[in-house]
Formats: sequence, C-alpha cells, structure tokens
Amino acid sequence: MKSEIDHALLAVLESTQYVLGPNVEALEIEVACYCGVGHAVALASGTDALHLALRACGIGTGHEVITTPFTFIATAEAISYTGARPVFVDIDARTFNLDPALIEAAITPRTRAVLPVHLFGLPAHLEPIAALCHKHGLKMIEDCAQSFGADYGGRKSGAYGDLGCFSFYPSKNLAAFGDAGMIVTDQTGLADALRVYRNHGSREQYHHSMVGYNSRLDELQAAVLRIKLKHIERFNAARRSNAALYNKLLRDSPLVTPSEDPDSRHVYHQYTLLSERRDAIRSALSQAGIASAIYYPVPLHLQHAYRDLCAGQRLPACERIASQVVSLPMYPELTVQQIERICEVVTAAA
Ligand SMILES: *Cc1c(COP(=O)(O)O)cnc(C)c1O
Repeated sequence: MKSEIDHALLAVLESTQYVLGPNVEALEIEVACYCGVGHAVALASGTDALHLALRACGIGTGHEVITTPFTFIATAEAISYTGARPVFVDIDARTFNLDPALIEAAITPRTRAVLPVHLFGLPAHLEPIAALCHKHGLKMIEDCAQSFGADYGGRKSGAYGDLGCFSFYPSKNLAAFGDAGMIVTDQTGLADALRVYRNHGSREQYHHSMVGYNSRLDELQAAVLRIKLKHIERFNAARRSNAALYNKLLRDSPLVTPSEDPDSRHVYHQYTLLSERRDAIRSALSQAGIASAIYYPVPLHLQHAYRDLCAGQRLPACERIASQVVSLPMYPELTVQQIERICEVVTAAA
C-alpha cells in the first residue's frame, strides 16, 4: 500500500485542508456502508468515541454504566469522564467478555447503559444484553476498538447496539498513523449531536449551542484509513486463517482460547491462550526471540485508579483469566513457518 498511501498523504498536504474535510467525509460514508448503518461520525480517538457516545446518550453525574473489568482502561475512563460510575460485572470464562447472566443483578435505578467490549476481536454475546437493555430502558454502547469487521447475528460489529465505538490507534486491526476514532449509529438524532459535540458545540462557526469538545479527525489519518479500509476483509481473513492454524497446531496442548459461536465471526485482533504455565511459555518464547504480551495483567476493578470505587470487589472469573492469559504474535502477514515455529516453542513449554 506504500505508494498509494504516500500519494494520498501528499495530496492532503497540498490541499492545505488538515482538520475535517473531504477525506473525513468520504471515510464516514465508507465506514457507515461497510457496517450497514445510517451514520458514522469520525473523532480524534477511540477513547473520545466512547466518551462522546455516553454524553450523547445523556449519561452524567449520578448515573451508572455496566461494563467489563477485563478490557483496556479507556473503556472505564470514558464512563468516569462523564461523572457516571463504572460498574464492573464479571466475564464469561469461555468468551472473556461480559457475562450476560450476571448483568441483571447489577442493574439499579441509576443504571443508564451497558457497555460491552468485543475483546480481542470476538463479539460479546449481545442478544441477551440487548434484551436486558430493552427491558430496563438502557442504552447499549459497543466498544468495538478491537473488532472492526467482526460479525454478530448477521450484523457488523458496532451495528447491533445504539452506538458502536471504534479506535483506529496504530495497533488496532484497522489502523491509522496516529490517533483516530469513529462512532457508528442508525439514530440520526445521536449522529447530529455527536457532530456538534466533536466541534466545540457548534453547528455554525463561532455560534455554540452547548459546551462541546475538540475531537475532530485529521485529513491525513482519514486518507490512510480510506486506503486500508479497502483491504480490511483480506486482513481479517488472514488473521482468521492464522488463528485456525494456531488452533490446529495447539489442539493437543492443555491450552484454552476463546472461541466464536456459530452466529459470530471473530477477527482475532489478538490470539490469546489461557495456561497455568503462562510465565514458562512467555520465557520460552522470549528465549526463542518471539514476542508475546499479557492483555491485561490487572483487571480494572483492581487498578489503583479505581481503588476507592471498587474496594473489596471480587470478580473471580476475570481475576483467574487475567492471571493466565498470554497473547501470541498475530498480524495478517504472519507466515505458516513462523506459526509452526511459535507453536513448537509453546507446546514444549506448556
Ligand atoms: C484501544 C482501545 C480503546 C481506546 O482507543 P484509543 O483510540 O486508543 O483512544 C478503548 N477500548 C478498547 C477495548 C481498546 O482496545
């Protein structure tokens, strides 16, 4: 993609239009079409997407939002920014995502939304969550930062809830050359509000109907994303075939990996294993010159930042899984030989 990207970047530089503009507008339309929704609103980051999605739903001080403790901190930070309180509910040990069976017990009169995360690219089980949201009059906001292009129940990730929030941070499976984010929604009123929020609360320049934010996407980032978006199906298919090979080569080892249901399509943002010997696996990989990582070593309810909010809270499935996860190399360009070598090292240490 290099020459196509170089050319697109130079064209933006020469246009002298750097913040919002024709590439951002085109990207919004292309992502909305890809996801099968009416609207997409480009923002400065995935964290902003979550924050502004919550704001657009009227969530603020005195409210509670139910989410998973097994995610990147930004999911909970976005809730805290609004003044609302993140309420952590334990995960399903089979999917590593929010356990729908535990949500209802956590709903109070202050609850306004449920914020599931599609961790590692595997869609959370949304149907029962949507039913609970409907029953209790709650919004469902999806954190799709790791799941661009995943499917659930015949819909693209982000298209199931009221709002779907994407990050295009450079490490994500659709990645910009810096920070970038997006919200998708079918609700015109929410999309309109988000466009005003992202641009200092203004529809007409220097007229501000509310106190807004500076969360606009750059043309340079949009130009890069438009080129990569054309290849996202191929990238995700390559991740899936790499994962299938990992699964096959590791099937006889005492290792567990979250697996998709028949109604979902995992896009393997990460390929993650569970093992009681994960530290031995990591050191064997490291000695062989192979990278590995732990996403995430400390669940959010045990983070220092939430020590007052969550004092004494125990979420056993999440805590056990956080102590046993290890993620192996995963990207579209991995070769069969590389995966075979990685699996040799993992199997010997497992
Ligand atoms: C990356 C990530 C975010 C934050 O996105 P940024 O673009 O880095 O702000 C939020 N939630 C999850 C699950 C993420 O992986």
